[in-house]
Amino acid sequence: MVKRLAVLGSTGSIGTQTLDIIRKFPDRLSVVGLAAGRNTSLLAQQIAEFGPLLVSAPDSFTSPSTQRLSPEEIATHPEVDIVVIAIPGEAALTSVMAAVSAGKVIALANKESLVSAGDIIIAEAERTGATIRPVDSEHSAIWQCLAGESTPPTRLILTASGGPFRTFSPAELATVSIEDALRHPSWSMGHKVTVDSATLLNKGLEIIEAHHLFRLPFEKIEVVVHPQSIVHSLVEFGDGSLKAQLSQPNMRLPIQYALSYPERWDNLALPRLDLVKTGRLDFEPPDHTRFPCLALAIEAGKSGSTYPAVLCAAGERAVELFLAREIGFTDIASAIEGALMAHKPTTHPLITDVMAAVHWAKETVGETAKKERSYY
Ligand code: MG
Repeated sequence: MVKRLAVLGSTGSIGTQTLDIIRKFPDRLSVVGLAAGRNTSLLAQQIAEFGPLLVSAPDSFTSPSTQRLSPEEIATHPEVDIVVIAIPGEAALTSVMAAVSAGKVIALANKESLVSAGDIIIAEAERTGATIRPVDSEHSAIWQCLAGESTPPTRLILTASGGPFRTFSPAELATVSIEDALRHPSWSMGHKVTVDSATLLNKGLEIIEAHHLFRLPFEKIEVVVHPQSIVHSLVEFGDGSLKAQLSQPNMRLPIQYALSYPERWDNLALPRLDLVKTGRLDFEPPDHTRFPCLALAIEAGKSGSTYPAVLCAAGERAVELFLAREIGFTDIASAIEGALMAHKPTTHPLITDVMAAVHWAKETVGETAKKERSYY
């Protein structure tokens, strides 16, 4: 049976790699919906190639004979079997909620939605029977390690590459450039997630994501720095057994698994791992002093309520300001910390409270950066 997919965020890094996988398996996967934001020329090419029934595009886009809908309408459409959510940032939240409320199978590449509104999304998924399949490499690794196990794990260990500044001193960190931050040692990804990998905020967001996806308390989720990015994460069981998933770093593998599950499909375009050539795998503890975003994220996750939404949104705005050369690299962590400290949380937040917290955090970070600039 051909699975009918909607790819929301089809022109981004994950979106285009998802279409690569779909191209490989024309008798198993088909595209019924595409949604994109800015890159309308690439979207036009994708429409010409895949001929989707449903399209979501900005108003400026003049589309051929396809149905023009919002991403939410595509996410809930009865013709769609699997919704791939590759929209970056907080913007994905409404699409994720729509897909979950419609009881869909969701291949989730977006972190921010689950981090910001994990409790709400998981409760809604339990109500509707929606399933969330992780696309993030670490969570896909954990999911793969848990396949076939009936006993819950005792510990999850997320691996982190440590980013390009793993060995930098605090003084060196204060003066790194955008170009330095975008030079990731092992993964090729979008700008936001690459900067988040350099600050380790990405790993902090992934801890919160893992907490929601696998329903484990924060005390049972750890991070280990693994510069080679070959072991994508590990799971420990009560008998002391540790299971890991290994492969060359390549996002197409977790994308494909999220689409092929519970099967695995032969794909020789995915690189094989040569253990002898790899030679060694190193592991070290994360340095919380030089990379404060990790501890900020764990704290926000444990505090719950609207704190994770603030963490995410403040991080998003701070990275925008860094990429616009308005603040320095180490200011990203300070901006997030400032927002978390100033935040007044809502108890038992609804989606509207989460959105309000997101809006507030972005404003706050923007205002603080503006004030600090006026001192010079
Ligand atoms: Mg990841």
